[in-house]
Amino acid sequence: MIATQTISISRVKESRIREVDFANIPFGRIYTDHMFIADYRNGEWRNFRIIPYGYIPISPATPALHYGQAIFEGMKAYRGPEGEALVFRPHDNWMRMNISGERMCMPHIPEELFMESLATLIDLDRAWIPSTPGASLYIRPFMFSADEYIGIKASTDFTFMIILCPVGAYYSTPVKVRIETRYTRAIEGGTGYAKAGGNYGGAIYPAKLAQDKGYHQLIWTDGKTHEYIEESGTMNVAFIMNDTLVTPALTDTILAGITRDSVIKLAKSWGWKVEERKISVRELIEGLERGTVTEAFGMGTAATIAPIELIGYGEKDYKLPPVSERKYGNRILEELDGIKRGIKPDPFNWVVRM
Ligand SMILES: *Cc1c(COP(=O)(O)O)cnc(C)c1O
Repeated sequence: MIATQTISISRVKESRIREVDFANIPFGRIYTDHMFIADYRNGEWRNFRIIPYGYIPISPATPALHYGQAIFEGMKAYRGPEGEALVFRPHDNWMRMNISGERMCMPHIPEELFMESLATLIDLDRAWIPSTPGASLYIRPFMFSADEYIGIKASTDFTFMIILCPVGAYYSTPVKVRIETRYTRAIEGGTGYAKAGGNYGGAIYPAKLAQDKGYHQLIWTDGKTHEYIEESGTMNVAFIMNDTLVTPALTDTILAGITRDSVIKLAKSWGWKVEERKISVRELIEGLERGTVTEAFGMGTAATIAPIELIGYGEKDYKLPPVSERKYGNRILEELDGIKRGIKPDPFNWVVRM
């Protein structure tokens, strides 16, 4: 549908790449030279352009700023053995972005627009894909309503953008999480399954309370009873219980993670026992007390497979066995990482070369 030549490209005069210390990349603070923008006007996407990364002028009446009509995606590209960009499951991100967009009353993004803008932008900023171990290029597509109108209604104008940033590890150590039983991230019928801005804005305060007590993140429980485990801040969660990989079943209050899906597919392909079901807080805590829960980890694009070393609940902290002893989580991390980097076979054809 969109041909590459319909994306106008305005290059930077001089790249900023020499200012970057690729041996010490913080997460989400360094952006590449260029960014992609498209406008939605009068019912169609137009004005596809790649311009130098920088500030964008928007009206103070932009509904995204007032009402949070904004969605995003997150994916990663790794540098392949021949210098090519290996992008992990971008079609799944494209599909999920449209699921989020539908819930937030935003226009469909055609597959060609998503893929061609991504490929063109990555090609231009290819030099920014880190080759250091543990590092990658984080890709952030996002869309927001752009009408100049301060009433609340379905918007007619939207902006779709992609920005890129080289990133190091999201968590540098195993994570400490706290089971949240007072605040709620998502409720049935709400927007929890969408990667919609407000879901995260509302989560900052409860997460901050936990961080003030020394935890990295929360594990959310269901909004109605707070008796069932849902997920973490930007990660789905899984546990090894009695040698079975157990993860909460997807509902409309849980974000359907692509990492989660990849872990389940790999585990099943190896013949592991996998259960997607409700997990009560009580079952988890009893398992931690008895020692039948031997591993816990988060699953997400940014954090990859993040081992959980400690789970706080009420006034108590439950420590899990050391990461070096975790044969399930470590195998998944190694295999998934190898697939993403193009150094292990890719049995599900997840990696797209750009
Ligand atoms: C993005 C996200 C995840 C992880 O999804 P991936 O596709 O694996 O990156 C999990 N939970 C929430 C709330 C998220 O926003």
